[in-house]
Amino acid sequence: MVEAAESGASNKSCDLIFDYFIQQLSLINNHKNLFPKKCRTCGKDYENLYHYICDTEAKAQSIQDAGEIMGKSFTMIYRNCSCGNTLVITITDEIMPEIKLVWKTLRNQAEISGKPLKEIVASFLEEWENEIHGQYNCLERRERF
Ligand SMILES: [Zn+2]
Repeated sequence: MVEAAESGASNKSCDLIFDYFIQQLSLINNHKNLFPKKCRTCGKDYENLYHYICDTEAKAQSIQDAGEIMGKSFTMIYRNCSCGNTLVITITDEIMPEIKLVWKTLRNQAEISGKPLKEIVASFLEEWENEIHGQYNCLERRERF
């Protein structure tokens, strides 16, 4: 994957990185440390990661590498519940061991393409949301709550 990113075929390698990240995130869809998650303001339950992505609105810089604290890596996802409350999901490298590699590769990608990391992350988020909307019946879920 890193070799592909260095070959200079930046659009193609970007897709590969995004696919890989999406696949890794799908593995933690029902992770017990993350879900179900309850909104403390309105009481709405988010049963898994797909449900959370479907039924919340992205904020600016909605996925961030928050760096390392005590040797543990933290990735934060910030999105707004329909009631307006911000729900934060924290992915550590214990939850997703590949997360450090993903950020390293995204940074490589930003460097190669000359785009800011923020822009790479924003296009990743767009692709991930599309993927989830394709797989998960968001409208049907919305009606249930
Ligand atoms: Zn809420």
